[in-house]
Amino acid sequence: MDIAIVGAGAVGLAAALAFAADGWRVALFGKPTAPRDGRTVALLDASWRFLDGLGLLPALEEKAAPLAVMRLVDDTGSLFRQPPVEFMASELGLEAFGWNIENVELVGAMAAIVQANPAIRILPHFVSELEASDEAVTLTGDGFEPLRARLVVGADGRQSRVRAAAGIQARDWTYPQMALTAIMSHRREHRDSSTEFHTRSGPCTLVPLPGRRSSLVWLLEPGEAARVAELDDAAFAARVERQVHSLLGAMTVEGPRGKVPMSGLSVEHFGAGRMALIGEAAHVFPPIGAQGLNLGLRDVAALRRSLGGASDPGFEAVIAAYDKSRQTDVRLRTGAVDALNRTLLTDLLPADLLRGAGLLALSRMGPLRRLVMRQGLAGGLS
Ligand SMILES: Cc1cc2nc3c(=O)[nH]c(=O)nc-3n(C[C@H](O)[C@H](O)[C@H](O)COP(=O)(O)OP(=O)(O)OC[C@H]3O[C@@H](n4cnc5c(N)ncnc54)[C@H](O)[C@@H]3O)c2cc1C
Repeated sequence: MDIAIVGAGAVGLAAALAFAADGWRVALFGKPTAPRDGRTVALLDASWRFLDGLGLLPALEEKAAPLAVMRLVDDTGSLFRQPPVEFMASELGLEAFGWNIENVELVGAMAAIVQANPAIRILPHFVSELEASDEAVTLTGDGFEPLRARLVVGADGRQSRVRAAAGIQARDWTYPQMALTAIMSHRREHRDSSTEFHTRSGPCTLVPLPGRRSSLVWLLEPGEAARVAELDDAAFAARVERQVHSLLGAMTVEGPRGKVPMSGLSVEHFGAGRMALIGEAAHVFPPIGAQGLNLGLRDVAALRRSLGGASDPGFEAVIAAYDKSRQTDVRLRTGAVDALNRTLLTDLLPADLLRGAGLLALSRMGPLRRLVMRQGLAGGLS
């Protein structure tokens, strides 16, 4: 086999489609499913176009809502609180910053297209061990014959076995926060706007979905999160409505809700010894500013570029080029999200002053706004 991808989440599925389209023989390990837990992903414009290039848009379009306006509201009660800041995609000449879709719908649609692709061999099994030699890596586990691949791509999430087998050092940390997720129906139109309320425990964000529906990502201190999570749907909806100042009118909960402890992870290298890491195997951070999966898709695009023209996909130079190409982008995003999250968690005056001044400058200075918007969208995927 040319390339074995371990992990069939959104990033592994995208990688399988991209590498198969480039003519590589691909094996994909893992169950291509995601839980229905109220979680959505906002895919920025470049990610959406990347998925379009993989033939996915017809299956995704109806399930996704455009993000035409992004609103930041300082809800910290800080002395330096500023009025809300609004970013409009039209200021950049774009129809939308990106599109928001339920994770379960995204993974389901991608899985159907991967399953119909004869160039991809799906092994819906867990990989237990990986053993590397100079020529190949052997993958073993229950339910399948050992398989040798010239390149192994770790898309196996934060507990990555591929990362461990490659001997890549990772640093991980936790935040005193838990994210509550839910799909909310509401009385008022969202007008394709997402609103991020910055509170002392972290952001509480509503992101539009098709119809009068929005997804909620609410970061809370773990004890408070546990109390709110225990509320029944009606009490939960009322609590959310109060938290977002009735922005979208009366709310109801649609389907199951989720809860995710907040943590971060960064790696020293993105590949070693015929193995490369993509997605959350290589980087984890809190869901602020819709960056995680977008960064994962940029990993896929970068690995694809590093593989261009190679006869051996696991050749040292391919891995080295990929590692080099991901250092700056991933470190920048991880650092920026971590810093913003930590300024919210502290009630120190200097941090409040800085955040307040930043928001004020953003609301008043057109060129700065456009720069920040472009930075948020930055990162080519072609
Ligand atoms: C609340 C929340 C909101 C978010 N919102 C956004 C957003 O708006 N925009 C955005 O870009 N990102 C967002 N993210 C981040 C985004 O969800 C993740 O970056 C993305 O889902 C990671 O995908 P992945 O494929 O790398 O990992 P995963 O989805 O974790 O997939 C890994 C897969 O590998 C499988 N696996 C693991 N080990 C093995 C093994 N040994 N053998 C076989 N299979 C294995 C697992 O079962 C799993 O299916 C959000 C995250 C959270 C928590």
